[in-house]
Amino acid sequence: MKREERYQHILNYFQEHVPVAETELFYSNPFELLVAVILSAQCTDKRVNMVTPALFKAFPDAETMAASNSDTVFNYIKSISYPNNKAKHLVGMANMLVNDFKSHVPGEVEELVKLPGVGRKTANVIASVVYNKPTMAVDTHVFRVSARIGLTINAKNPLQAEQQLITFIPENLVPRAHHWLILHGRYTCIARKPLCEKCSLKNWCKYFENNFIKKNKNKTLKTKPNGKEKIKKAGEEKSSKKSYKKITKKSK
Ligand code: SF4
Repeated sequence: MKREERYQHILNYFQEHVPVAETELFYSNPFELLVAVILSAQCTDKRVNMVTPALFKAFPDAETMAASNSDTVFNYIKSISYPNNKAKHLVGMANMLVNDFKSHVPGEVEELVKLPGVGRKTANVIASVVYNKPTMAVDTHVFRVSARIGLTINAKNPLQAEQQLITFIPENLVPRAHHWLILHGRYTCIARKPLCEKCSLKNWCKYFENNFIKKNKNKTLKTKPNGKEKIKKAGEEKSSKKSYKKITKKSK
């Protein structure tokens, strides 16, 4: 299957079955989203959502956070990963927003990445979610799922994956495609054990094609000692469930 066809099928599927796809982080304005996305680096959205209600109540805007200090902010976020660094980043980010951006969260990726704690992925999320720009944030889920399906080929890093994805995905779908791929990676195409047999994308997925369809085809062709091929009956095959376990075990 050509890569264009995979994109077409996958995007059609998501548009039809998941028309609304949004971040699972809690927020009510661009500043809160920026704070939540910074906190979500190497941490689950669920965990971030546990700390942000109190944090947002104490620091409702850039001014209040800028007027605080990292020790105080630390106390609100100490249950998430890397709280020391993140507390420093949040206070630094708030200060830069106040001093350089009139307390307004910028919409350009080039400006966003100047903020402490904001890398390209975070900047792309803000530009996409807040400003609906066609920027593709590639996190671990997007990177893995895109590669498995065959949407990206030999992408060595998130930037290469991002460039391939935005080449093939129509601009108007890029913001939603980011969430589609994240959610698919979070709940179905799981890192350690993808739920391929119940995955709705399997008919267009390269990983499924290589690890299930082709392997099963090969199993049906057994070569006799005299060189003749015999086709095993379907009943002689091991159950697909056993094959699946074997494959996932190997891939660990
Ligand atoms: S078929 Fe498997 S590898 Fe492909 S997208 Fe679905 S869960 Fe992921």
